Amino acid sequence: MRLIPGLKNAKMVRPGYAVEYDYFPPYQVDLTLETKLIQGLYFAGQINGTSGYEEAAGQGLIAGINAALKIQKKKEFILKRSDAYIGVLIDDLVRKSTDEPYRMFTSRAEHRLLLRQDNADRRLMKFGYEFGLIEKELYEELLEREKLIEESKKFFEKTRLKPSVINPFLEKKNLSTVNGGETLGKLAKRPELSAKDVLELLDAEEHPIVNALLSDPRALGQVEIEVKYDGYIMRQNEMVKKLDKLENIEIPQNFQFNAFKSISTEGREKLSRIKPRSLGQASRISGVSPSDISVLLIHLKN
Ligand SMILES: Cc1cc2nc3c(=O)[nH]c(=O)nc-3n(C[C@H](O)[C@H](O)[C@H](O)COP(=O)(O)OP(=O)(O)OC[C@H]3O[C@@H](n4cnc5c(N)ncnc54)[C@H](O)[C@@H]3O)c2cc1C
Repeated sequence: MRLIPGLKNAKMVRPGYAVEYDYFPPYQVDLTLETKLIQGLYFAGQINGTSGYEEAAGQGLIAGINAALKIQKKKEFILKRSDAYIGVLIDDLVRKSTDEPYRMFTSRAEHRLLLRQDNADRRLMKFGYEFGLIEKELYEELLEREKLIEESKKFFEKTRLKPSVINPFLEKKNLSTVNGGETLGKLAKRPELSAKDVLELLDAEEHPIVNALLSDPRALGQVEIEVKYDGYIMRQNEMVKKLDKLENIEIPQNFQFNAFKSISTEGREKLSRIKPRSLGQASRISGVSPSDISVLLIHLKN
């Protein structure tokens, strides 16, 4: 410390590390990060019991966006658990609360297969564009790429090649040959082959999509991932849809959980304290049982 110019005679009275800090239990904020008790007051960052730069920045962004939207009387902005890690972070804080500093781990997300860094633009750029943070040109570029990705996936699925075309190629690579025709998609699923390898089997003059893909490495990368891991991604998407159905059943803000004696005592206590906004959120609170959820489901549907 004394080697720093100006601090030659400094004396350490008390080390600054292990600074103590206090926080507000985050079940007191909504998914918009607005406090439930005081309208227009938003909490973000360490005050909600998180530790870390990214956690603070992510919450600050959401609180800021929502405060601005509220002033403009626009619809609130909430990222879902399947949209982004920020969605997981805030949902975890609001529903579970936290007894020790919370840090975001990838393992906290159940839809990790969808929350990839390679597809962040495909998941989130639309929101940035809606809020005026992304230029039109950049957004349109993404939409164009999206179109190419979708067309390419169909192309991989339906384009079938004859063994006479495939086998010499496979033999050259020392890979097992095929007896019948095979689609590009099935070939690209082989761990030894890339989407680019497979495209080389085609006459680019005959199929303009080949050059379009080869000249857009980001689109090609997405096609490769989505073709190779198609089965897993599909299963995860189905799971998201199933959970979304619960997620979208809203619970009114002033709902009196205590009035439902058929809900377990622990369930009633947790629900009244945390005040979940949706049935999905309620279902993730520890202590709230599946039978508690069915009681709520029946009532809310009515
Ligand atoms: C020594 C140390 C090392 C760390 N290292 C890392 C690291 O390597 N990586 C990492 O990810 N995280 C690290 N962290 C954690 C990270 O710094 C914090 O989690 C993060 O900065 C919290 O951001 P925040 O905006 O919530 O709070 P803060 O950054 O604490 O901001 C709160 C602000 O509010 C102001 N304020 C307080 N009271 C009032 C008031 N009454 N009126 C007006 N203003 C007020 C404060 O002055 C402060 O500027 C470290 C923390 C410490 C202490």
